[in-house]
Amino acid sequence: MDMWEKITSLAKRRGFIFPGSEIYGGLAGTWDYGPLGVELKRNIKNEFWKSMVQERSDVAGLDAAIIMNPKVWEASGHLTSFSDPLVECKKCHHRFRADQLTEKKCPDCGGDLTEPKQFNLMVETYLGVIEGEKLKTYLRGEITQGVHVNFKNILSSTRVKIPFGVAQIGKAFRNEITPGGFTFRSREFEQMELQYYVKPDLKESMEQFEYWKKERMGWYVSLGMKKENLRFKEHAKDELAHYAKAAFDIEYNAEGEWKEMEGVHHRGDWDVRRHQEFSGEDMTYFDEETKEKFLPHIIETSGGVDRATLFFLMNAYKEEKVKDGEIRTVLRLHPRLAPYKVAVFPLLANKPELVKTAKKIYDDLKKNMMVAWDDRGNIGKRYRAQDEAGTPFCVTVDFDSLEHDDVTVRDRDTMKQERVKIGELGTHLEERLKQS
Ligand SMILES: [Zn+2]
Repeated sequence: MDMWEKITSLAKRRGFIFPGSEIYGGLAGTWDYGPLGVELKRNIKNEFWKSMVQERSDVAGLDAAIIMNPKVWEASGHLTSFSDPLVECKKCHHRFRADQLTEKKCPDCGGDLTEPKQFNLMVETYLGVIEGEKLKTYLRGEITQGVHVNFKNILSSTRVKIPFGVAQIGKAFRNEITPGGFTFRSREFEQMELQYYVKPDLKESMEQFEYWKKERMGWYVSLGMKKENLRFKEHAKDELAHYAKAAFDIEYNAEGEWKEMEGVHHRGDWDVRRHQEFSGEDMTYFDEETKEKFLPHIIETSGGVDRATLFFLMNAYKEEKVKDGEIRTVLRLHPRLAPYKVAVFPLLANKPELVKTAKKIYDDLKKNMMVAWDDRGNIGKRYRAQDEAGTPFCVTVDFDSLEHDDVTVRDRDTMKQERVKIGELGTHLEERLKQS
């Protein structure tokens, strides 16, 4: 099995990610996050929010609607240019993205292909109750525009001054011709973004651009992504959107294949200029100090939450030889990302005094962190199960615990065990989670 298959299989087996609508045969390009996956994904989003909003004074948060006035998408250019080249096999009628094919023949049956047609990626939807009077609109193709249409609202409701940013996390939808690569290219996905408004000064804006490149790369590294698996990929001049001044992708090395995880873009003033033009609203910013009026330029950082989740999983996945030649599968997830921080076990499930003490510890810890409970099978098997879930610590209540008021704390990565007093357990775990 290659890494993609291993991750897909682990994700399904342990409840990280399931195929969407599976009992009905699934729906291509959709995925459901299971009990462990929802925690991992939420932790990633919380870390993003903490570093981009909570810890900064120059960034505000926003949560805009998924369905917007369709004029937004005229202004942003999505209705005219947000498309992929589609070809169809004349024999088996399978459809492909022309830019992903290496041969001129159908990869499935060798048949002839049609000429490429531009296929718009926006997902259509209709609002209203009366047939014929329904408003045709779209599920947002990117979360970016929700920020720009609120530029004036944010200025008037906060005390932010340029340079400042607006961060947002939310779902977006694309009618991908060929979804695939597990969750990598999905039709419904989640984005985590920053739109950072700066003066229309090339030197200053390029400094901001470089700053955000470094910040975003550093964020992935701070959460445990190996530096050698990350790189910047610059968009060639002919790949740049016509309005963009510069663009780099942060790519992850997925087993030898570099894959886009986040984009850092200098968008110029395209978005605000277009919304000013199409809405008739004045989108200029007035600088109190210099008394200048201008349309701001925008530095955007746009990351895929699902892609980050996938690559954090891949980055953490290890198969390690342990004693007696046994192999353990372990997710060495950063403790801040791990779905469960600790698992609590009574040594034996049929000894009420052990279960009672363990249950008390479990209930106490749960007030402050996600805690797993397991009382099935032998301790070795329970450790393996938690290793696979990425749980940093396991706590076992044994017969000594009843006499000495202490428990065994076992570390996921070193597999070392130590005895800790029950009364100090909460503080002990929080300290160790903080250190890592
Ligand atoms: Zn074919």
